[in-house]
Amino acid sequence: MSILVVGSVAFDAIETPFGKTDKIIGGAASYIALSSSYFHNDIRLVAVVGGDFPKEFISKIESRGVNTQGLQIKENEKSFFWSGRYNYDLNSRDTLVTELNVLADFDPIIPDTYHDVEYVMLGNLSPQVQIKVLERLPNRPKLVVLDTMNFWMDIALEDLKNIISMTDVLTINDEEARQLSGEYQLKKAAAKILAMGPKYLIIKKGEHGALLFDKNTTFYAPALLLDQVFDPTGAGDTFAGGFIGYIAKAGKTDFETLKKAIVYGSAMASFCVEKFGTENLFDLTDEWIEERVNQFRIMVTY
Ligand code: AMP
Repeated sequence: MSILVVGSVAFDAIETPFGKTDKIIGGAASYIALSSSYFHNDIRLVAVVGGDFPKEFISKIESRGVNTQGLQIKENEKSFFWSGRYNYDLNSRDTLVTELNVLADFDPIIPDTYHDVEYVMLGNLSPQVQIKVLERLPNRPKLVVLDTMNFWMDIALEDLKNIISMTDVLTINDEEARQLSGEYQLKKAAAKILAMGPKYLIIKKGEHGALLFDKNTTFYAPALLLDQVFDPTGAGDTFAGGFIGYIAKAGKTDFETLKKAIVYGSAMASFCVEKFGTENLFDLTDEWIEERVNQFRIMVTY
């Protein structure tokens, strides 16, 4: 069983109340691939970078078992660049710069060796590209999970609705769920979004955890209370990587499995935010991950 990860591999510059970085490595697919690699040993990446992207990072993600055959390197172009500033509560942020560069005309080529993928994680990218990926797979995967953001709701809503109708699980944050549905109450927003096609909806609420909906049932998982939150960038992607990684490992896509996957995704996200960028996602152990999952258990069992 393999997982296809598609998304941005990028340079980020981040400002939080606790510090500031120059260009560091980021991108949705970087976080997703690293996070899912703790659950599964067959992660296949499709993404694009420019000639300015450090080859060492590519080797580092390969050393976590990520297959980079589908990573295009456009030697004469620049990598995607995103910059954001977090407010004091770390729950909201402003995008300062989005330079699409290589992403502007990204044509996602799926290598033949990837054609048998069973699980697909479409990270935050243009909906047109996300549609192309699904169209180019010869067989319908077992599960397609989609992440997106308000940026695409603002500029490509029709394409976004189209890809949403093709996916099984949509993950967005509460603000985006309200924007997409036009409903303030999350219960009503969820019902409207599920009517757009996906079987399951995950609404992420930052430090307040995540909600999982299907047509009949709702599940809530809190986020762990941490001693130190340094940089929330990539938390949503790291969550998504842990989520799909857990599901692929379990080999099941029912509501009960998705509930557990949300807890594992949240555990992975808790590691991500403790350091800047992807720094904390290279040397975790299964024991540390299980220990975090156990902390969830203790927090919510009564
Ligand atoms: P998250 O904090 O989980 O929302 O993800 C942050 C990551 O998303 C950063 O590493 C950015 O490089 C990436 N990102 C931000 N905006 C976009 C965009 N418009 N398209 C693709 N990736 C983006």
